[in-house]
Amino acid sequence: MNIKIALLTAACALALSACGDGPAPQADPAATPATEAPATAPAQTTVETTDSTAAEMPAQTPAEATTDAAPNAATTGCATEIDSNDAMQYNVKSITVPASCDEFTITLNHVGKMPVAAMGHNVVITTQDDMQGVAADGMAAGLEVGFVKPDDERVIAKTEMIGGGETTSVTFSVSELQGDYKFFCSFPGHSALMNGTFTVE
Ligand code: ZN
Repeated sequence: MNIKIALLTAACALALSACGDGPAPQADPAATPATEAPATAPAQTTVETTDSTAAEMPAQTPAEATTDAAPNAATTGCATEIDSNDAMQYNVKSITVPASCDEFTITLNHVGKMPVAAMGHNVVITTQDDMQGVAADGMAAGLEVGFVKPDDERVIAKTEMIGGGETTSVTFSVSELQGDYKFFCSFPGHSALMNGTFTVE
């Protein structure tokens, strides 16, 4: 029996190799990637080299980021529209309200795709000193209230918390405001990256 099986196996092997004349070319491409595999390793080494190069760059990168990522929001009359994304970013670092405005409207777009529970964004405006406390209390307050403590008197204005693809806006009085304030996202952990200066001239 074993011999028969061996023969059958041999026959199959022969048949395969016979048929394999066709597939044989496929075996070569298969071998080629294997040959290229070692080339991948050097490629990874190159990536590491790139990383270490990047590690040497942080001194420059923040400076460039500050320059590039510090556009002032374009205002149309007494309103502005800003974007937020799945990379935990606003597209502006500052908003300036003209002195002539009594009210101001901020429209926030979430141009990402992630749901609000994972990558929610809002815009909260407070004084510079209140930002951290409002963000901390908002975190404790939870998503149900948009990560802003209800009736928090330190909050000058706030939008809803929105997810990817959504838009929201808030209109509020700026007649009592003067100088520099902060705008930020109160979703847990976001305010470190998602914050900017809100200035009333
Ligand atoms: Zn956010």
